[in-house]
Amino acid sequence: MVEMIRIAFPNKGRLAESARELFERAGLEFEFRGDRALQAALGDDFLALFVRAEDIPEFVADGAADLGVTGRDLVAEANRPVEVLLDLGFGRCRLAVAVKDESDVRDVDALPDGTRVATSFPRLTERFFAERGRKITLVPVSGAAEIAPHLGVADIIVDLVSTGSTLKVNGLREIATVLESTALLIARRELLDDPDRRRRAEELTTALESVLRAQNKRYLMANVPRRALPELKRILPGLNGPTIVDVMDGGEFVAAHAVVDRREIYRTIADLKAIGAEGILVTPIERLMP
Ligand code: AMP
Repeated sequence: MVEMIRIAFPNKGRLAESARELFERAGLEFEFRGDRALQAALGDDFLALFVRAEDIPEFVADGAADLGVTGRDLVAEANRPVEVLLDLGFGRCRLAVAVKDESDVRDVDALPDGTRVATSFPRLTERFFAERGRKITLVPVSGAAEIAPHLGVADIIVDLVSTGSTLKVNGLREIATVLESTALLIARRELLDDPDRRRRAEELTTALESVLRAQNKRYLMANVPRRALPELKRILPGLNGPTIVDVMDGGEFVAAHAVVDRREIYRTIADLKAIGAEGILVTPIERLMP
């Protein structure tokens, strides 16, 4: 029997659900055995392990897992040797420096020496300020850094921001970005030295990539008057230009098919109507491999 490739997934939190959804959309079903749900079979090739997102870079670096899905922020903070295979795009956030609303400080250079910084990202924070020649005092916390300035245990914070509402509610204002983050698929370096496992990791990467690529695209079909074909080419440049198919008994109409950027659908439909198109149909795409 071929050895399963172990993939570490976040067991809870912001990344957990999106990670699972993405793999399912790529055609890999999670089969849970037993009720503790610490692991699940994932297709024929993979075994999913559910652990804390924070621990995943370490588990992948030391071989407890072969692959992992976790945030770029956590990979950077862990500073362990892992290979990034793919940016998964979800879990977008930034690690930001924030001061109290009433503070006069507008940028990092204006922070006095000895500023106390509460963060659960001590390594990245230390490096960020050192690179800018600022001498800070770290106040490591395991979460909820936004409370620290109000408790008087820190002057400022370095924390993850997504919508910014947590900062706002806590009377804090962003002054700098330390790191932009999204979820990543990471791999143990040695995994890639084994040709068979490397191939299976690459197949997985390709499958996930095709799902991610399809997310922002739509498949559009329309019946278009033959005489409007020159204008159609302008409206639907597509991946390779639109596919034109004869319609049985279609008379003056041909069917045009094209892959269109999701954000351009609204405009494209209006343009198609304007050249006399009918029977316009837009559908999601599950996978796209150019
Ligand atoms: P928000 O209020 O949307 O700016 O979210 C900020 C809070 O959510 C902070 O407490 C962060 O620690 C947490 N957070 C935001 N985005 C993420 C993420 N991608 N991964 C983990 N925690 C996050």
